[in-house]
Amino acid sequence: MECLSIQMATKAIAETPVRTPLTQILSDENAEGNFGEALQTSCKQHHCSTNVSATQPQSCLGQALPSDIVTTAKASLARCEDLRSQATKASEGAKKAVAEAKAAATNLSHTISTIDAVISDASSFESQWLSFKKKFDDLTKMACAKLQGMGDASAERKRPAEVISEERVAQVLSRASKVVVLTGAGISSESGIPTFRGADGFWTVGSENYQPQELATWEKFNEMPGELWRWYQYRWGICRTAHPNDGHRALVDLEDLVQGGLTLVTQNIDGLHLQAGSDRRRLYEIHGRIDEMRCDERLEGACLHGVDLNDATNFAKARATITQTPAPAKEETDEHLPCCSVCGVRQRPKILWFDECYNEPIYGSRSVQDATQECDVLLVVGTQLTTGLPSNMVNVAFSKGATIIKMDTIVDLSDEKSAGMLHVQGKSGEALPRIVSELRKMRQEPALAPLAEPSGTVLVSKSLSHGAPLAGSPALSLRRKSLAAEGDPISSPVEARSAARTFASKRNSSARPGAILGTPPTRNRSSGALKAAASVSLKDCATVGAGSPVEGFFVYGTLRPDDDSGASWTKSFCEGMESDIAFLPGASLYVEGYPAVSLEQTRCSVRGCFLQPSSSDMLAAKLLEADRIEGYPDLYDRTVMLVNTLSGGSRLAYVYHRTGRTDRANCVRIADGDWLSRKRG
Ligand SMILES: [Zn+2]
Repeated sequence: MECLSIQMATKAIAETPVRTPLTQILSDENAEGNFGEALQTSCKQHHCSTNVSATQPQSCLGQALPSDIVTTAKASLARCEDLRSQATKASEGAKKAVAEAKAAATNLSHTISTIDAVISDASSFESQWLSFKKKFDDLTKMACAKLQGMGDASAERKRPAEVISEERVAQVLSRASKVVVLTGAGISSESGIPTFRGADGFWTVGSENYQPQELATWEKFNEMPGELWRWYQYRWGICRTAHPNDGHRALVDLEDLVQGGLTLVTQNIDGLHLQAGSDRRRLYEIHGRIDEMRCDERLEGACLHGVDLNDATNFAKARATITQTPAPAKEETDEHLPCCSVCGVRQRPKILWFDECYNEPIYGSRSVQDATQECDVLLVVGTQLTTGLPSNMVNVAFSKGATIIKMDTIVDLSDEKSAGMLHVQGKSGEALPRIVSELRKMRQEPALAPLAEPSGTVLVSKSLSHGAPLAGSPALSLRRKSLAAEGDPISSPVEARSAARTFASKRNSSARPGAILGTPPTRNRSSGALKAAASVSLKDCATVGAGSPVEGFFVYGTLRPDDDSGASWTKSFCEGMESDIAFLPGASLYVEGYPAVSLEQTRCSVRGCFLQPSSSDMLAAKLLEADRIEGYPDLYDRTVMLVNTLSGGSRLAYVYHRTGRTDRANCVRIADGDWLSRKRG
């Protein structure tokens, strides 16, 4: 890359003779008269080939020239030499300058291409860096997920957040064996206890205002134990006057209604659960209690100094140092931090501080993790899950396939942290008693509710021709299972139906299945429609069905458009039909390889989708397709039921079920009646 001016300069210099011939200089030398011209003319006349010499100024004939001419010639020649030397120097300087310019230009060009390369490398490096960073982030997330006990597979399977009704919470609890309840500041705030976080929690020491997060550390306590002691005594003063609310009491009642046992875990330090009557043996106050103190293992000379609190043989010793906190003094200045009666070293509040770790003997962290591993349902009440163990509990519950229900006054389904959970919006002091009341009614049902008499089957035309079950469809798989189960008295339809009839005749007519359950959380329909949808019993269904056209299908397994099991027929079956979330009251969902509904005399419902074809021709075609997939009539029965849809009202729908065929006692029953919430292994 050579610029034009350098090219021109180079050319000009190349064309400039380095040594100008003397003759030319002489002829050009006008300043010195016509001497040169005269000399040349004289030499030419004698055919002279002798060079004119400045030192031997003589003619070719060897004759001496006149002295004035010699003098002039000498001066001219000297001048010529001088000019020649100057020209040579200038020429060499110019050459050097050109060479330097050329080198500079080459360097510049090289530099520019280097810069280009650097720029191009830089942009590709940036994309490489971004891609590396993303990979690293993904790896970190995976590692975190694994550390928190949830493989990346279960992370991918997190279902979208969903709001459910209180009745459905009761349904889930009624079918659960082991339940863990985790409570946070929300339940205590309904008893008038401030959160002690943010603006309402700051504490002034001298002229400094401290946030609770700054104060609640061991380091701060060790730095100014007297000040922090006064702060805790002030807070205890508030907690002492608070009383448990209906939410606390409902959780006491819940203990007796959970079949496999309830574990209550609280982040609250106010002691209100115990005060309400919760069983101390199943209560874990993982952040401590404000009304208790203990020895400080970090102080030399203390009972617990140097004792490993994670060693089970030390648990009893650690717990033995726990004492009751003295009542707050009337005047703040009268507060004195107590010392241990055994070791004489100052005690500390039995509170887990921000710079401390959980342990088993004081906070029960291991027991809480074990209970969470085993639970079917984790009910989270009034906490944002910002601290370590509680958020870890949620991750463990996810990884184990437990149903997670979160209750709070504010529900934000768009929040990333809401995913994978069912949400109930409400005050715990109001919602928990209603849930417990509903659960109590459900508990009056036997563990396996009597089967219901499927009704409406008269509507089904048996004249339709049926093809063979599709390859790989549940029909084929169930055919094998069904053959294997033959002769099992529990799965005998005749016996089951007879039992159902006996039960039905004894039933109070007001106890209708699904009267409350299955009510969608978004109540955008009229209360009239709600009542109509809720008050249809299985018996009513036959009456309604006799003269009304069937509108579509109630699907709950692999026929659901949102099913994620990858069945080959899901998409083609759902194509062309409108779908809506729907509930089938008076039914339970069992899994025996594939999902199967049993119609039962139960308050519970099954959650699925209502699919509506656009024409009666499509309905007929889809019916044939569904019959083939479900293996009707050999494997699944088909009936017509009223189902409640989320958008409002109730619809008559075909329902494939295995009432009386499923061995319910040996099947997995899905707690919330929702196939997509099943535990997957
Ligand atoms: Zn001590």
